[in-house]
Amino acid sequence: MLKLDLLYMSEALKQAKIAFEKDEVPVGAVIVHNGKIIARAHNQIKLLKDPTAHAEMIAITQAASYLGNERLLNATMYATIEPCPMCTGALVLARIKRLCIGASDPKTGACGSVFNIADNKRLNHRLQVKKGVLEEECASLLKEFFSRLRSDIGKAAGSRRQSVSEAQAGKKKR
Ligand code: ZN
Repeated sequence: MLKLDLLYMSEALKQAKIAFEKDEVPVGAVIVHNGKIIARAHNQIKLLKDPTAHAEMIAITQAASYLGNERLLNATMYATIEPCPMCTGALVLARIKRLCIGASDPKTGACGSVFNIADNKRLNHRLQVKKGVLEEECASLLKEFFSRLRSDIGKAAGSRRQSVSEAQAGKKKR
């Protein structure tokens, strides 16, 4: 494992943690060009009420604007979770050279897990993909987020049940 890959992935992980704190699905992405981080982003789907506001999409836009070029040639993206079809499609359009992934996404991953848009002969550009960079840290953050979400939903359902039974008890008294 390249030391630099671990370093940059830990920067992406910091972004994912920011998303976690804001109740967004904790995914982070950074883009590196010539040894410099030129974009850092986290999911902002809820904040922006925008289904396309994935960390990777925001990072691509930032990097393109930094370089003043719609092509991110010779750049590398570090994404904490395997990008979805939309984001991988955007990375192909951006002609990004390399993509390092933290944890795989067996539900929507488009770099080999469910689809393979990153390395597809029908498309005019292919990414060099490296998986499993800080995999456990990236996956456990996501796991913790969803288990918390489930327990919050459980609590909310519990308090609804309680208020219904209180209302029924109130009716009986009357
Ligand atoms: Zn995406």
